[in-house]
Amino acid sequence: MAGFTLELNDDQKQLRDWLHGFAAEVIRPAAAEWDEREETPWPVIQEAAKAGIYSLDFYAQQYFDPTGLGIPIALEELFWGDAGIALSIVGTGLAAVGVLANGTEEQIGTWVPQMYGDADDVRLAAFCSSEPDAGSDVGAMRTRAVYCRATDEWVLNGTKTWVTNGGIAHVHVVVAVVDPECGSKGHASFIVPPGTAGLSQGQKFKKHGIRASHTAEVVLDDVRIPGHCLLGGKERLDERLARARETARETACEAAGTPSERVKNAAMATFEASRPAVGAMAVGTARAAYEIALDYAGTRTQFGRPVIDNQGIAFQLADMRTRIDAARLLVWRASWMAAAGKPFTSAEGSMSKLYASETAKDVTARAIQILGGNGFTREYPVERMHRDAAIYTIFEGTSEIQRLVIARTLSGLPIR
Ligand SMILES: Cc1cc2nc3c(=O)[nH]c(=O)nc-3n(C[C@H](O)[C@H](O)[C@H](O)COP(=O)(O)OP(=O)(O)OC[C@H]3O[C@@H](n4cnc5c(N)ncnc54)[C@H](O)[C@@H]3O)c2cc1C
Repeated sequence: MAGFTLELNDDQKQLRDWLHGFAAEVIRPAAAEWDEREETPWPVIQEAAKAGIYSLDFYAQQYFDPTGLGIPIALEELFWGDAGIALSIVGTGLAAVGVLANGTEEQIGTWVPQMYGDADDVRLAAFCSSEPDAGSDVGAMRTRAVYCRATDEWVLNGTKTWVTNGGIAHVHVVVAVVDPECGSKGHASFIVPPGTAGLSQGQKFKKHGIRASHTAEVVLDDVRIPGHCLLGGKERLDERLARARETARETACEAAGTPSERVKNAAMATFEASRPAVGAMAVGTARAAYEIALDYAGTRTQFGRPVIDNQGIAFQLADMRTRIDAARLLVWRASWMAAAGKPFTSAEGSMSKLYASETAKDVTARAIQILGGNGFTREYPVERMHRDAAIYTIFEGTSEIQRLVIARTLSGLPIR
């Protein structure tokens, strides 16, 4: 019987070292420039495509690593390089996962390769779910998709917001309401093919951090797409809606306030599996800032000795490193559980995202303090890392929503 180990295997070490090299040589040196430009770093994405890092094959290989560690190792290294640029490189993956999770084999084969393009003609994809009035509260979504039987088309209307790669993507994956009676179970995902009339970019946001990643509104105005662009197909949707209506009827008959298994199950298995990925990004940013602070504290001299000679500084570095290692372990545990098909009975995916994202904010703030005046300027990257770290506690479910999911899962109660 194989013993327990946290030792990476040779393939994983090779992956880590290769991506670390790319992050150190290509991403990190470009970070300050693209942060200031607040634009998608197309040349860096092209470099990543040439190196084989921006491609469907690369992510598929990591995704199917049976230990589950391929994705977190890759993300930690890329985001160690720079969060904004790394998000531009991996943002397409969010839309690709939307298709992989819900699409038929034919849809996956048709659309996912188009999302990446190739090294000579790099393309992006966007996943459009959030709306101005539906962020954490996905059930408040208003974008409607109406089926036109006569033409076998879906007609989409609504406004999506804060969309990574929104409007500049080749392929947009859009979540819309198909049956308002079924709440979030009445949602479906659609592919909007390149060049479809009626889809346009709204406001492009100027942001606090991850400024090299494009974030914008996506406006859908009578967007007509063929029936085959419904992910999963019409038959599967009709079956799903029938089940959702049945469940809604049963729920209405249950005694109000009874702690139900249903609430426990509402830990949203899909998100649980994707959340450790955001945790891994946060670990990458935190580790980058910690390393700079450790190095600086050992070389900056005040009162005739390096500042790390003071417990006040050394203990902070001890706490920073301890939190980073603990965060990585939570991320690896959840990633392994997802790959092994273990149920997240204690919302372990949310735990990893919550702890790692809060760690990134804490560690980057402390790094600024340790670098003193230099930390506060753009001469050193820790202030950028601190701005970048703020996103991790917001997207893919805020810290408050992670706590809600964890608390509901542990208690089985509909905690509000
Ligand atoms: C840079 C960036 C990129 C993004 N990329 C994408 C993307 O590609 N695709 C996409 O669809 N979306 C994307 N998002 C949207 C992101 O997922 C949402 O911003 C996030 O889900 C939070 O929603 P909200 O901003 O509406 O906050 P709100 O839901 O309005 O929350 C506001 C505050 O209230 C708290 N709160 C809300 N409900 C509760 C509750 N029940 N209990 C306790 N506290 C609560 C929240 O935690 C938060 O602190 C992106 C956002 C940003 C900033």
